[in-house]
Amino acid sequence: MSSSASSLGRVVNGGISFWYADDGFPAPREPLPGDATADVVIVGGGYTGLWTAYYLKKAAPYLRITVLEQKFCGYGASGRNGGWLYNGIAGRDRYARLHGHEAAARLQRAMNDTVGEVVRIAAQENIDADIHQGGVLEVAYTPAQLARLKEFHAHELAYGEKDRELYGARETAERVRVADAVGSTWTPHGARLHPVKLVKGLAAAVEAIGVTVHEQTPVTEIRPQHAVTPYGTVRAPYVLRCTEGFTANLKGQRRTWLPMNSSMITTAPLTAEQWDAIGWAGRETLGDMAHAYMYAQRTADDRIALGGRGVPYRFGSRTDNDGRTQAATVEALYEILIRFFPSLTGVRVDHAWSGVLGVPRDWCATVTLDRSTGLGWAGGYVGSGVATANLAARTLRDLVRQDSGQAGATELTALPWVNHQVRKWEPEPLRWIGVHGMYATYRTADRRELTTHSVQSSRLARMADRVAGRH
Ligand SMILES: Cc1cc2nc3c(=O)[nH]c(=O)nc-3n(C[C@H](O)[C@H](O)[C@H](O)COP(=O)(O)OP(=O)(O)OC[C@H]3O[C@@H](n4cnc5c(N)ncnc54)[C@H](O)[C@@H]3O)c2cc1C
Repeated sequence: MSSSASSLGRVVNGGISFWYADDGFPAPREPLPGDATADVVIVGGGYTGLWTAYYLKKAAPYLRITVLEQKFCGYGASGRNGGWLYNGIAGRDRYARLHGHEAAARLQRAMNDTVGEVVRIAAQENIDADIHQGGVLEVAYTPAQLARLKEFHAHELAYGEKDRELYGARETAERVRVADAVGSTWTPHGARLHPVKLVKGLAAAVEAIGVTVHEQTPVTEIRPQHAVTPYGTVRAPYVLRCTEGFTANLKGQRRTWLPMNSSMITTAPLTAEQWDAIGWAGRETLGDMAHAYMYAQRTADDRIALGGRGVPYRFGSRTDNDGRTQAATVEALYEILIRFFPSLTGVRVDHAWSGVLGVPRDWCATVTLDRSTGLGWAGGYVGSGVATANLAARTLRDLVRQDSGQAGATELTALPWVNHQVRKWEPEPLRWIGVHGMYATYRTADRRELTTHSVQSSRLARMADRVAGRH
């Protein structure tokens, strides 16, 4: 039997995510019983929707707020992610080009603060989400990756991140012994968490302060002042769409944000001897500088949870089948694990799953309130929404309060991602061809960089970036 066959023989595939297998599913909440009214209706019970409900209700306890969730809170990416709570935000560099460097630096500072904000509120609300503030370590293991890493490091310093460190091979190995690592960059602005413990805790916290949460209630259409479901319509002056990777399923939204898959595996808990070979005592979240990058965490119960792009996108923006993941993707993630840590060859993989994230045509996260209709939305976080959703939620709170005359403009409403407009994605089959082509190109570029040892980033990857609208 090959090492991967013995490692992958008992993998649980799908079932939403390992995090639910670990922490259990929540008791279902009642669906919407019929037509209703509210002051604010929020569509989607992930981090964005729940944080928005939380902050709005805290700021204005008299508001009647209803959350409508198609399955259960945390069904989407918020219950499936890699648990990197970190300060990255999709689109910052484009916002710098559109609004100037200082505006983008303000956005970055707001993101840096957001990591601490999530940690603080989780503690305040007694949400034990296995948060560990070990920062983020990103490693390079080819000359081209090292060149990109140095560029990335310098770029982040230019956004005011004075506390970021650049490590050589030896210092990197002192933290985590990644095979062939030639360097890394570390920032303190990151923490590891258990995604499901956070989302379950948040849902309970918003209910406890008087927000109404209906689960098993799919919204089929959003119109000004209306959220339409098969069980009735909720009417409210403000309707906030927080549906991220599922947005394409809503009437009229098929080409708004492309649903992109990301997939993960977890190993069995590793032994003390296995950890001795790897290091990773600081439990930093761990990533790399490959074009088709990976991300990983050391869980509270000493597993490695590792993710990357699987089949990136399904034709026609179809989204999900409860996280089931193709065998080839599971195998590819296992290979990345062993590439990083060859001493783990043969380790048992316990679980594999996938989820969807929302990708706007220009790869820029946004938060918007259309003051003429009362329709708002936040998302398009691409792969970094765990912290960004919190910043988006506080911003939606401020926008609603400003619009309804309860408060004025704030620092958050002046950030450059607010009310950003972007065109829609191309119709099929162009969408499918474009995204598959891009990821196939990234994988080829990564292989080329591994085999040629060139310092130059592959031209292929740069081309794919341009075609995809990423840069
Ligand atoms: C595998 C994976 C790994 C990731 N890892 C990281 C990471 O480590 N760090 C990071 O920063 N980001 C990561 N992300 C991204 C991050 O998880 C998301 O950006 C974030 O969770 C988005 O939160 P959200 O509430 O906007 O969306 P979601 O969590 O997707 O929530 C949307 C909710 O809306 C509900 N919904 C959708 N449509 C409807 C409808 N019509 N009616 C009613 N309800 C509806 C869905 O059921 C869902 O519960 C990852 C994503 C994936 C998939």
